[in-house]
Amino acid sequence: MDRIKEARLLVKEAGVRMLTSNLVTATWGNISCRVSGEELIAITPSGMDYNELDEEDIVILDMEGNKVCGDRKPSTEVPMHLYIYRSRKDINAIIHTHSTYATALACVHKPIAPIVEELVQVVGGDVRVAKYALPGTNELAANVLAAAKDRNAVLLANHGMIGMAKDMKEAFKICSVVEKGAKITILSNAVGQPVPISFEDVQIMRENYRKSYGQPVDEN
Ligand code: 13P
Ligand code: ZN
Repeated sequence: MDRIKEARLLVKEAGVRMLTSNLVTATWGNISCRVSGEELIAITPSGMDYNELDEEDIVILDMEGNKVCGDRKPSTEVPMHLYIYRSRKDINAIIHTHSTYATALACVHKPIAPIVEELVQVVGGDVRVAKYALPGTNELAANVLAAAKDRNAVLLANHGMIGMAKDMKEAFKICSVVEKGAKITILSNAVGQPVPISFEDVQIMRENYRKSYGQPVDEN
């Protein structure tokens, strides 16, 4: 399969999954990935129903945001996606959701503390809140990058969250785990004072997750 087609399919399938997993409502949120081996990205069109997207609706852009392929208007959050790809070479896929619990915390500008195992494994610590800025602006893009630093998830004040990773599967996992972490944060605050995991243990769990969690990779 050619690389552009492959990237478009990845984005299209992730869109349907994001909608059916209740990580967005209607047409909000957006998804992108790098086209492997090229200085290009594939990104969702703006304001279209995820269930009705065809492969050709996914827009292909160069790293300056110029359209290379596709007739649709790309997501209004192109600046945010491109800012991340330009400055984080480790990132190949980005999912921006408006999931309920993450957004609830983002509305009170509260980070998700490192209180639960899978969250610190996949995110690497707390999930910070990017300073408020209007959607679709370069200011929002800069605020997201500043808050993320080396993390792969950020809450967007009064808006939603964003997960970024080496591939689409991991980006999706991050968004799901952050949403669960946000829900646990709200629930645990309702019944007591959540106890953060120590910095040292967060580092150990993150390293274990990166290097040895799951099944060993078959070298043959
Ligand atoms: P688009 O439909 O233009 O991608 O915008 C949705 C969104 O979530 C803006 O932040
Ligand atoms: Zn949004």
